[in-house]
Amino acid sequence: MTEMHEIRKVGILGAGLMGSGIAEVCAKAGFEVIVREVDEKALDAGRRRIEQSLSKAVERGKLDAKTGDEIRGRLRFSSSFAEVFSSDLLIEAIVESLPAKREVFEALDKSCAPHAIFCSNTSSLTIAEMAAATARPDRFAGLHFFNPVPVMKLVEVVRAIGTSDDTIARVTEFALALGKTPIAARDNSGFVVNRLLVPFLLDAIRAHEQGTGSLEDIDTGMKLGCAHPMGPFELLDYVGLDTVYAIAEIMFTEYREARFAPPPVLKRMVLAGRFGRKTGRGFYEYDERGNRKG
Ligand code: NAD
Repeated sequence: MTEMHEIRKVGILGAGLMGSGIAEVCAKAGFEVIVREVDEKALDAGRRRIEQSLSKAVERGKLDAKTGDEIRGRLRFSSSFAEVFSSDLLIEAIVESLPAKREVFEALDKSCAPHAIFCSNTSSLTIAEMAAATARPDRFAGLHFFNPVPVMKLVEVVRAIGTSDDTIARVTEFALALGKTPIAARDNSGFVVNRLLVPFLLDAIRAHEQGTGSLEDIDTGMKLGCAHPMGPFELLDYVGLDTVYAIAEIMFTEYREARFAPPPVLKRMVLAGRFGRKTGRGFYEYDERGNRKG
């Protein structure tokens, strides 16, 4: 039985779309946050994303300038691994690759405090596969946020085969402290939301390829016919086609069901660097500020 430690310092691995959002909500909730990226360029991009989001919140009157500065004061950025070792909770949000994630967790496990809880924000890998790279499977859970993190209320708290009740209780409490609504999910690839959402997005691509409708008409159909806030192609571009492709490959390998198989056109688009909004082109085209062209 490990001694109870309060969660004060949160270490975030990766400052991409998700890591930067997670860092922002943790700092907003009063936690001390340290963000680790692979290099200065990636760190700068993450820092800029958080800054844009905070300035927008101040402009819109959702945050006063003083609170904005206090939040900035709780955020630190580093390209060195050692900086995160003293965290009480670590949240991994790096690329969706099992070898990369296992390497990160293995390194963290050797140097972090024994009481530290490890969480992964993976969309499709199983938590057990990552926990097995550490000697703390009882203090390892999934904490799956949604994009954009500052806006989306849901967090999936994932119990893997070795996760202890205490870890689930503490991670759930942490999600509540962030102002999120946690739901409990089992460690099945895709958890609750992606298990249902990913086949739907892939099916939209197939429907388009079969000539069922244009991109715009399929998007409008799902928005006005099913009250979805975004159409499937808008959502695909928003999530990132590289990420969706990686998720689909992993889910297909896990379940061996055709509905999880990424359509070949998705692979071609990823090979061509058309990742969606973040690279300026996916199913639609975007300007430098991420607004749809045309
Ligand atoms: P992203 O490509 O925007 O960011 C990934 C970041 O990880 C990059 O900045 C990269 O430099 C960094 N990175 C790679 N290796 C690293 C390492 N060893 N240490 C620190 N940083 C490292 O991807 P994203 O969309 O933020 O996705 C990150 C994770 O979150 C993935 O597991 C993804 O499946 C999951 N996720 C994504 C979404 C989404 O909508 N995009 C939603 C929920 C969960």
